[in-house]
Amino acid sequence: MEIIIAPNSGFCYGVRRALRMVEAIRAQSNEPIYTLGELIHNPQIIQQLEKKGIHSINNPDEISHGVVIIRSHGASPEIFEKLNKPGISIKDATCPHVKKIQNLVKELALNNEEVIICGNARHPETQGLLGYCASKGRVVETEAEAQRLPRAQKRAVLAQSTQDLTVFQKVISALVEKTEHLEVYNTICGSTLARQKSTSALARKVDSLIIIGGRNSSNTNKLFRIAKKILPRTYFVEYPSEINLAMIKEAQKIGLSGGASTPPEALHEAVAVIKNLYKSQQSKEEKVVPCQR
Ligand code: SF4
Repeated sequence: MEIIIAPNSGFCYGVRRALRMVEAIRAQSNEPIYTLGELIHNPQIIQQLEKKGIHSINNPDEISHGVVIIRSHGASPEIFEKLNKPGISIKDATCPHVKKIQNLVKELALNNEEVIICGNARHPETQGLLGYCASKGRVVETEAEAQRLPRAQKRAVLAQSTQDLTVFQKVISALVEKTEHLEVYNTICGSTLARQKSTSALARKVDSLIIIGGRNSSNTNKLFRIAKKILPRTYFVEYPSEINLAMIKEAQKIGLSGGASTPPEALHEAVAVIKNLYKSQQSKEEKVVPCQR
């Protein structure tokens, strides 16, 4: 049996940076520390942060003092305004790549009838981006949604940083039919593209593939859907302990991958779980003695 971890799986640059910032702030401050929304979509890491007194809030109105960290997904100008009150110190951990997209949509909103964000409407990054569009923004999740749009003279389209490239390409094709002048900006981040490519390549060469990550992690869910289309024996687990024998049965090559919010330790723990399952399976087989007449 061979276990292969997809290159580029696990924490991305933006998530690592946000975590480092939070740790540094905790080391320097005795103030209450909050993150606006969960810092990353990973239950283990959230528990660890809670133990260090770093709590997540959903709304700026929930607190009146302390340090508030804006996570790597970024936030809208409206959120920054709401947090701008005495007693609150804002620390911005928005990923530099997301910052670039925010600046881009702001500029595009000046010169276009509409700015289309190809992404998940409920995702905090997308909601933050909409806030920079001066009411010209529209979120499109699928090709079918793009096909239903009315015709327009001038539009710009870009993607949520963790968008699936295939979905983005289909949305662009549909928009070309609906728009006289369409500007296209591929804003999928390099880390996401590299992870999607390496996981797809791995799905083509293993017998079974396990994707590890938070169930509420948008990019991990996308990664799972991309791989599942290539390899039906692709599984999604939140914790390595959820890996079971059925997932690796008769598989000679087992692949592992994780989203941007999957800690590297989870991938290493998964390797240990698979090895243990494999050993227990082998010892069971060895104990089966042929029936003697
Ligand atoms: S997925 Fe990309 S854009 Fe999003 S936080 Fe990570 S590095 Fe930044």
